[in-house]
Amino acid sequence: MPRLVIISNRLPVTIDRRDGELHYHPSAGGLATGLNSLDESYDKVWIGWPGQVSEKDDKDEIRRDLAKEKLVPVFLTDDEIELYYEGFSNKTIWPHFHYFTEYTTYNEDFWRSYQEVNYKFFQVVADEIRDDDMVWVHDYQLMLLPNLIRQKFPQVSIGFFLHIPFPSYEVFRILPYREELLEGMLGADQIGFHTYNYMRHFLSASYRLAGYEQAYHHLTIDDRQVNVDVFPMGIDYDKYAHPQVEADNDKESQEILELALHRKLIVSIDRLDYTKGIPQRIKAFRQFLKRYPEYHGKVNLVMLVVPSRSNVDTYKELKSEIDVLVSETNSEYSRFNWIPIRYYYRSLNFAALTTLYRASDIALITPLRDGMNLVAKEYIAAKEDSKKGVLILSEMAGAVHELNDAITVNPQDANKIVDALVTALEMPLEEQAERLERMQAKLKIYNVKQWAANFIEQQQLLKTSNLAHSTTKLKGEEADAVVEKYRTAKRRLFIIDYDGTMMDFNVDPQAVSPDEEVLSILNGLAADPKNMVVVNSGRDRTTLQKWLGDLPIGMSAEHGVWMKEEGEWQLNPNVTDIWKPNVREVLENLVTRTPGSFIEEKDYSLAWHYRGIDKEFGEKRVREFRDVLAFLIQNQDLQVLEGNKVVEIKNSGVNKGKATNYWVNRDDFDFVFGIGDDSTDEDIFKAITNCLKDKPDTLGVSVKVGNGHTEAKYMVPGVKQVRKFFNKLLS
Ligand code: UDP
Repeated sequence: MPRLVIISNRLPVTIDRRDGELHYHPSAGGLATGLNSLDESYDKVWIGWPGQVSEKDDKDEIRRDLAKEKLVPVFLTDDEIELYYEGFSNKTIWPHFHYFTEYTTYNEDFWRSYQEVNYKFFQVVADEIRDDDMVWVHDYQLMLLPNLIRQKFPQVSIGFFLHIPFPSYEVFRILPYREELLEGMLGADQIGFHTYNYMRHFLSASYRLAGYEQAYHHLTIDDRQVNVDVFPMGIDYDKYAHPQVEADNDKESQEILELALHRKLIVSIDRLDYTKGIPQRIKAFRQFLKRYPEYHGKVNLVMLVVPSRSNVDTYKELKSEIDVLVSETNSEYSRFNWIPIRYYYRSLNFAALTTLYRASDIALITPLRDGMNLVAKEYIAAKEDSKKGVLILSEMAGAVHELNDAITVNPQDANKIVDALVTALEMPLEEQAERLERMQAKLKIYNVKQWAANFIEQQQLLKTSNLAHSTTKLKGEEADAVVEKYRTAKRRLFIIDYDGTMMDFNVDPQAVSPDEEVLSILNGLAADPKNMVVVNSGRDRTTLQKWLGDLPIGMSAEHGVWMKEEGEWQLNPNVTDIWKPNVREVLENLVTRTPGSFIEEKDYSLAWHYRGIDKEFGEKRVREFRDVLAFLIQNQDLQVLEGNKVVEIKNSGVNKGKATNYWVNRDDFDFVFGIGDDSTDEDIFKAITNCLKDKPDTLGVSVKVGNGHTEAKYMVPGVKQVRKFFNKLLS
């Protein structure tokens, strides 16, 4: 049976010592519920911090007890809790990722401890893990862990889910530890977020900080595919729709029901946190009382604030601010028989919580930022029977993307919140029921069990496809076999693309002239009299001549407009350049509107490059001018080639494939090797296959650099590996 290793900061258990005995209480958080439902198909182990245990407690005893439940503890010292958990996790990442950069604490001790504790987790994981395990790492406390595991266990399938927002790149880049955090996450094979926006921000950061380009939400890192996707976390729907509690016997539940008899209840429930927008909400409610005196005595804001991180100064200050605002509002508007805000600073038991959900006419949930917000979903589920109730939800909560039948508000816009309250108070029952039903239908299907199952299923698929894909890589035994054939071949041809194959222009757009290693590889290959080496490039012949002209090699420039053989350049007789002025004008306009892009003018073609700018921005421009170009070149013998961050216009009948044909027929080769990275190089691969159809004794080796659909026989992930392979041939 496959094994799933779950790793989160906290184990789903609390331990306390009473009467000299250790007692273990399972905690039924959303994550535990979702994962429990995977019981039948997976054997599971859960690794995490069991909570603070005292020095006196016997850790081995705890370890043994927890092992019976397949839980593995990572014990943390008081210092680690202060620096790693309360420090870096909650005072650096938490505020920063929620856009509260003014609260981000930059402290080297926090950072050091965060690294150390992630490593501590890794050591426990390393003792547990087996090669065929699936690992699922959770949340912002353990962002370095995926890569730590990857380095030591390259074969293991690793998933990572971030339960909080991933901020916009502009915010993320402010963090000094941004590269390390990003690389840490990128150690995973699958990275999940609650919303599309968080995913988008993450992909943008991966591209801008580390140069990883996405293709359909997949990143290619070395020879791995990383799937980045959206998995909005659901709730245990039935638990809130049909709570198994006896509200009749619960005193608080009775008091809530009593309160609801006399007034309309607007409920607001959050942990104490500056991300939740509690002061802004109170101010908006106060404005509501000011603008709508007719509701005085008829509504109550029932505000539950659950204590959290109460030893942190920022949270203490927030608590005081809320206390003052509630008190000011109540003292201003209270009557002898009515207090507008009923404020509770504590948590409720499950019976009272669900009674409060059921009894409330409106839920007012207005976080300034929230990864998801489960309270909003629980409120909707709790209305399963009554079909009465309205949700007012912040645009900044992750849940808003699924709950689009809520009344949505900008949490900073007090006027709009007031309007929303009135709309909600006056909403006809029929409309309430319709909206609720639509939202309930979604939450019922995409519940927390489904969430966990989807994540793991996709990770499993990815694992299978990564394994399948690896058979076509030019490495290991496959590479050895090609090297062996090379050694025994009598006459060999190499058709080699330049940009993106020998040189990596993603690293430095300017540094594209050949470095020492490239020159030595080409020289080394050409030095063997059995080899014919041809650089087959889209670049102009002047540049190629300047860079590579001294080497004893053949060249094709401008995709085959020019050929250099035995030191002489020759023009392909089919080409003309009378079309260039008109096309140049269009491209110049494009460059003006797209700073960072540039035109490359060759003798018989024009190319527009956008390698120095955002890929998305460049592609947007390409879409715009495709039509203009199509019009311009109609009835002319021209073609438009879209390559890797370049669009090129040139004569038809000229391409790298035709150039390849030319070279293959120059001699009687028994080993033909073609390599390239972009769509124009696909013509090389096709040409090799076609030319060698009638030559069964000739080995054709076509190699695609990077990922994506290809006609090539083999692939290598990047320039680094291309050079490594050539060096192996030459050794
Ligand atoms: N909750 C609770 N007791 C309470 C109030 C709330 O257990 O007295 C739970 C609530 O049911 C919800 C969770 O706390 O599942 C809060 O999750 P949410 O995503 O809304 O916010 P977070 O605290 O994770 O930022």
